[in-house]
Amino acid sequence: RFISIEGGEAVGKSTQIRLLADWLKTHGRTVTVTREPGGTVSAEAIRALLLEGGADRWNARSEALLFAAARADHVARLIRPAVEVGGWVLTDRFLDSSRAYQGIAGGLGDAAILDLHRFGSEGFLPDCTLLLELPADEAARRALLRDGASSDRIGGRDAAYHAAVTQAFRGFAAAEPQRFRTIDASGDSAVVHDRIVAAIAPLMA
Ligand code: C5P
Repeated sequence: RFISIEGGEAVGKSTQIRLLADWLKTHGRTVTVTREPGGTVSAEAIRALLLEGGADRWNARSEALLFAAARADHVARLIRPAVEVGGWVLTDRFLDSSRAYQGIAGGLGDAAILDLHRFGSEGFLPDCTLLLELPADEAARRALLRDGASSDRIGGRDAAYHAAVTQAFRGFAAAEPQRFRTIDASGDSAVVHDRIVAAIAPLMA
């Protein structure tokens, strides 16, 4: 099984991925936890290019191509092989982040990002995408606690950009209800974990 965890900044994705991985392991599953951009040696090298350069290093198109290139390597060398031998792969971000950040908020359009994904990764999709959702004020409060003034690791983006990201994720979830499960990410991590387990349980059969 291939599960992606998506959402805006500071919604608690990495905590929840750890809790879900532990839960799956106690239920006898082989689990690989990974993240984007990154997850393989080559894709992590691209992550460094994306995150260390500052806001103006790449234009929108080159940034989208780098994300797609990193994902292509990640799918081919890590995700697909692990799923093919019956493992569970949990990824912190995947295609839908590119669709929301570069496609919708960044203005390239959803079709362009989907085209890149078709070319780079043969359109490979998660069996299930967990969308973690927080009210905007709660997300801002958590981001401030975690990262100080800016939680956006790429940087230079404003509140309108992040609002567009949140709206984009909602739109994707509404358009593909069979793939998406929207999870209320408010409350403490144990409560959110229980919501995620309830959403994942049907995939355990
Ligand atoms: O997952 P995390 O919050 O650590 O994301 C790393 C950074 O990369 C974030 O600042 C996020 O906004 C950005 N990002 C992006 N486009 C993607 C995926 C992540 O701009 N497709």
